[in-house]
Amino acid sequence: MEICLTCGTIKKSSDTQCSVCETPYEENTADVSPPGDDLCIARFNGHFECRSCGHGVALNGLDKDGNILCGKCGIEQAFNWDNWDSILTHAHNTADFAGWNKPQANSPLWKGLAEEMGEDTAEMFKRIGDSRSILSLSDGAFRGLSYEVEASPGYPICEQCKKPLTIKIEKSSLKTACSECSLAATYEIPSNRKAYSPLEGIISFENRTDALEVKQESSKGGAALAITCPQCGGALENIKAGTITKCPYCYTSCHIPSRIFQKTTGKVNKEAPWWLVFRGPSKARSKSNSRVEIIKHKKALEKQKMLEDMEQAEKEEAYRRKANNRIILIVALIFIVTLTAAFVLNR
Ligand SMILES: [Zn+2]
Ligand SMILES: [Zn+2]
Ligand SMILES: [Zn+2]
Ligand SMILES: [Zn+2]
Repeated sequence: MEICLTCGTIKKSSDTQCSVCETPYEENTADVSPPGDDLCIARFNGHFECRSCGHGVALNGLDKDGNILCGKCGIEQAFNWDNWDSILTHAHNTADFAGWNKPQANSPLWKGLAEEMGEDTAEMFKRIGDSRSILSLSDGAFRGLSYEVEASPGYPICEQCKKPLTIKIEKSSLKTACSECSLAATYEIPSNRKAYSPLEGIISFENRTDALEVKQESSKGGAALAITCPQCGGALENIKAGTITKCPYCYTSCHIPSRIFQKTTGKVNKEAPWWLVFRGPSKARSKSNSRVEIIKHKKALEKQKMLEDMEQAEKEEAYRRKANNRIILIVALIFIVTLTAAFVLNR
């Protein structure tokens, strides 16, 4: 599968430049393979509408406690599992049906998908990698929350040198490394977000576990917040979101979670893409497969019915022929008897 080396989305064969990051394809693409046989990867980005101020709150990782902070109005709000379930299903469907395992052009799976999800959706899936890269999902008002997310089949690339990363999946974590600059990272799925069982790993700064989270402390006055090193308690200044900072006192690697970043700086988190690794068939594939089975079963039933009808017609035909023959025989017999009688009487 070919990807754009700037943003990691699937390459569109009909274009000369990436529609997601607008970089010309030219030499800027690479052919990448999944890190395992039954794995697929989705590039993902999205936001939801703050219930209080309407700001688009970035969904930049899987939250640890079912709450996400709106950096604009400062209100913490619930982001339900149901929302994540639909979002993860959408990302998995897209990566599975339009990525490395994309069904052949004339495969019955496409017919199954069209019957299951509608002709339009099947058509959009078909066009991924041809004339489109991403597929959006928006929900008007799902339990008082509307969101808009985008998913694409893709592959993560090194933020420094733009080379595809090496992905290693371990028991409870996922490790990435760059063969070019040796930049490495470890990520974990928060324990409360493991309910979507095909989700095998995530690559998002929010879920990095190889750097400690900074601490946030109230100053003596109570109002202002200070950011400190989780190891030695030293004050950390000018710490940026989305980067690893080394404590100048004890050299511990730290990162600032978006919640603390937004609270202490008053800055709003920007939407940034991240990655989801799935194992096994998506719901779209399983449903399409069962549709295909139903279609096959229906066809088999129709064929059987046709054969039975033909057999019945043949039987009826044979019966009719038999009956006709009997009539002919009887008529012939009557004729012979009449002739014989006439002959005898005439003598
Ligand atoms: Zn791109
Ligand atoms: Zn808000
Ligand atoms: Zn690199
Ligand atoms: Zn320190």
